[in-house]
Amino acid sequence: MIKPLRKEVVKTAALLVDNGLMPPKTGNISIHNGEGLIAITPSGYDYTKMKAHDVSVIDLDGQVLRGWLPPSSEWRMHLELYRRLPGVRAIVHTHSPYATHFACLGKKIPLQYIEEDPTLSVSIPVSPYVLRATNELGAKAAETLQERPGCLLEKHGVLAVGDNIRNAYENAHYIEKAAQAFYTATGETNELLRGNECKTSD
Ligand code: 13P
Ligand code: ZN
Repeated sequence: MIKPLRKEVVKTAALLVDNGLMPPKTGNISIHNGEGLIAITPSGYDYTKMKAHDVSVIDLDGQVLRGWLPPSSEWRMHLELYRRLPGVRAIVHTHSPYATHFACLGKKIPLQYIEEDPTLSVSIPVSPYVLRATNELGAKAAETLQERPGCLLEKHGVLAVGDNIRNAYENAHYIEKAAQAFYTATGETNELLRGNECKTSD
């Protein structure tokens, strides 16, 4: 039954928007049903308007089985992560603001605030820059993640994973809160405040 998973995608996207983790038309979410079907957000869609029937369903080859909209442009990244990390059943990719600042700077989020969640008692590393919408983005991120709950994608955003969508959502949330706490405590991202921008080249 894929319908409940499509509903979970809608619910999680709404939570991410409500909590400021999903600026408009950024990020994507998927859930793997464990039997080769993946419910994934449609590309460039307004998550505040999304309904279950808008959520795409793809198989492990990227074939679209259900949904009337094109699936997320990052579907290759999602599939690569599911292939390489068998325990992962859900993926939340965001451009949440504080964590994305660290991603733009290519700086890990050090271990600090997140000790309150034992599953996040690690620093959040940076996966090296790879062009978006490619398999390689997922392959590199899988190497970086290993057993970790999340990582930053250099010059891009955040990747959080879990054995279910609630865990993946919470990991994305904690990563953002950890980045915010570190930013507030240290002014670590002052470079950005001085006007440097996140660039995908040079
Ligand atoms: P999609 O809307 O195609 O999922 O792309 C958003 C994004 O964050 C790309 O990295
Ligand atoms: Zn992105």
